[in-house]
Amino acid sequence: MDLDSIECVSTSDGMDEDEIQQHHTLYTHPRQNSDFSSAKPRNVSNINNNIAGPTVIAPTTSVHELLECPVCTNSMYPPIHQCHNGHTLCSTCKTRVHNRCPTCRQELGDIRCLALEKVAESLELPCKYHSLGCPEIFPYYSKLKHEAVCNFRPYNCPYAGSDCSVVGDIPFLVAHLRDDHKVDMHTGCTFNHRYVKSNPREVENATWMLTVFHCFGQYFCLHFEAFQLGMAPVYMAFLRFMGDENEARNYSYSLEVGANGRKLIWEGTPRSVRDSHRKVRDSHDGLIIQRNMALFFSGGDRKELKLRVTGRIWKEQQNPDAGVCIPNLCS
Ligand SMILES: [Zn+2]
Ligand SMILES: [Zn+2]
Ligand SMILES: [Zn+2]
Ligand SMILES: [Zn+2]
Repeated sequence: MDLDSIECVSTSDGMDEDEIQQHHTLYTHPRQNSDFSSAKPRNVSNINNNIAGPTVIAPTTSVHELLECPVCTNSMYPPIHQCHNGHTLCSTCKTRVHNRCPTCRQELGDIRCLALEKVAESLELPCKYHSLGCPEIFPYYSKLKHEAVCNFRPYNCPYAGSDCSVVGDIPFLVAHLRDDHKVDMHTGCTFNHRYVKSNPREVENATWMLTVFHCFGQYFCLHFEAFQLGMAPVYMAFLRFMGDENEARNYSYSLEVGANGRKLIWEGTPRSVRDSHRKVRDSHDGLIIQRNMALFFSGGDRKELKLRVTGRIWKEQQNPDAGVCIPNLCS
């Protein structure tokens, strides 16, 4: 990722800094300035000072600014509303303002701004993750749909223990897991892990562990946790791929746990970290060990849980049936 491109605010048309900050979402693509926006500098305060006066739209005002709701500053999508004086606002804000135009305080009524909706229809805009590498350009109305599934959209932190709100690309999240969550990092495609828990009866306070593996130039999250499956306390281990679903399918992994001549083996495809930790867990897409079996594998006096989980990650040959369904036993 080109870090410089994150700050891809173009100042070539002479906008001052205040204006850039107020409208930063509108100036994320250099094309906008030449193709869609006004070529001349415009003073934002004109519009703000215009509040109670007649609506004069300066000819240099860009269409993008017109499509920004003056109340919440989000992009407006149909139905776009306007008051009798022509002040526009988005449908979400309309429901919140108790029939008073937030700009001129006049009664709002129920007037659609069809002209602006039509103008929006004719626009094409870059994906909002353009600065993260997405090259796509979309008609105004299908942009949101794409952005919800854009491959360049940032990932959520895959850490399961808390509601961490950090988002970013994979290298950023790997560093975040290591530095902020103190997650164990391992290099290599085989592993041999021992999970020890002194009081295995306490399944309710779900214990969990996360280890990150680095192999094939990719990162994988190995989750291990205890939870209640219906009435039965179980342990579960599964792998998530730090990347998108279509890439995750290029890999497989196996997990093995056993002792005393018994062995449980799980073989599967890692899920993408796009799928939440909880979603993977609830679909039972991993190695599940009943507590009694886990204690049996632990040996000794069953007072302590000592599980040795070995595993391997490998790269699959190109998979022809790439559209295969993901199991979801709960749905
Ligand atoms: Zn709004
Ligand atoms: Zn008004
Ligand atoms: Zn995109
Ligand atoms: Zn985090």
